[in-house]
Amino acid sequence: VNKIGVLTSGGDSPGMNAAIRAVVRTGIYYGLEVFGIMRGYSGIIEDDMFQMSSRSVANIIQRGGTILKTARCKEFYNEEGRKKAFANLQKRGINGLVVIGGDGSFTGAYKLSKEFGIPCIGIPGTIDKDLYGTDFTLGFDTAANTAVQSIDKIRDTADSHDRLFIVEVMGRHAGYIALHSGIATGAEHILMPEVNTTIEEIISSLSEQEKRKKLVNLVIVAEGYMPDPSNPKIKGANEVARLLEERLKGLEIRVTILGHIQRGGPPSCIDRLIASRMGYHAVESLLEGRYNVMVGILNNNMHYTPLEIAIREKQKMGEDWLDIVKILAS
Ligand code: ADP
Repeated sequence: VNKIGVLTSGGDSPGMNAAIRAVVRTGIYYGLEVFGIMRGYSGIIEDDMFQMSSRSVANIIQRGGTILKTARCKEFYNEEGRKKAFANLQKRGINGLVVIGGDGSFTGAYKLSKEFGIPCIGIPGTIDKDLYGTDFTLGFDTAANTAVQSIDKIRDTADSHDRLFIVEVMGRHAGYIALHSGIATGAEHILMPEVNTTIEEIISSLSEQEKRKKLVNLVIVAEGYMPDPSNPKIKGANEVARLLEERLKGLEIRVTILGHIQRGGPPSCIDRLIASRMGYHAVESLLEGRYNVMVGILNNNMHYTPLEIAIREKQKMGEDWLDIVKILAS
């Protein structure tokens, strides 16, 4: 490996720039040529790449988003598209690829490596944190902190009126932002796709709390939470509010959907550190011939998960968290 490409793909997340910077600077340190690829896999197919220097990544470690832009690239799902991509990489002599993204992006990388023998390394970049083989993913800490800051403000209002506040945080398939921000703000309920909480359970605990004159109620809902898993169309905070209002007539509910503010903003210190560490080890891994793995951090050690496993498996939520939620909210 002497010429590598780096790209960001799928949803953007704070820390991607810090990872790009680490890949570029580590690569150059070891005498590699490093190419920045624009808009994920689209940039390979369209041959939109440029050689990067140490200076081209100056002053980006603190910026959210990604200077390489990101995109969903439909063509890459077909072998035809990947063939075109391989031809462009070959033309430029690029013989290693660092892909920063989520499991979809890793699936693309896995196929490219399998079909055409291009060594690929994945760096987990997603605010959802649900990837297997790592305790951290780029952007999760920043997103959770953004959610906490916003929920604290909403709680001030909830505290001043006797109302039920429902806050929706990001997480279509994973409840980690909801779990972490909910515990950190002392929410009464945390509703996540991973846990089957029914509306009846929420109602009975609300009336229980009412008896104890506990009036402030803050419910954190992950956008992918479904009160009734057999009806996947009904999900998220608005639906929870609608169902509760139907059942508890007269209850005043306010819904806030935090939305995209959770994706942006300067990465937290932790996100910058893990991005730097993973970027460095992604290049080291290519140089050592440890190919087609996702770099992760487990128990403060680097951990390398084969891409095909990283794609298939999901991070499991520790069960103690669910007890913690229940006991601390009482
Ligand atoms: P994420 O990486 O955040 O999970 P996506 O699932 O949107 O995001 O994937 C990002 C990109 O990765 C897609 O737009 C596509 O170019 C590529 N990709 C995803 N899944 C596959 C697949 N099954 N085969 C080939 N490429 C894929």
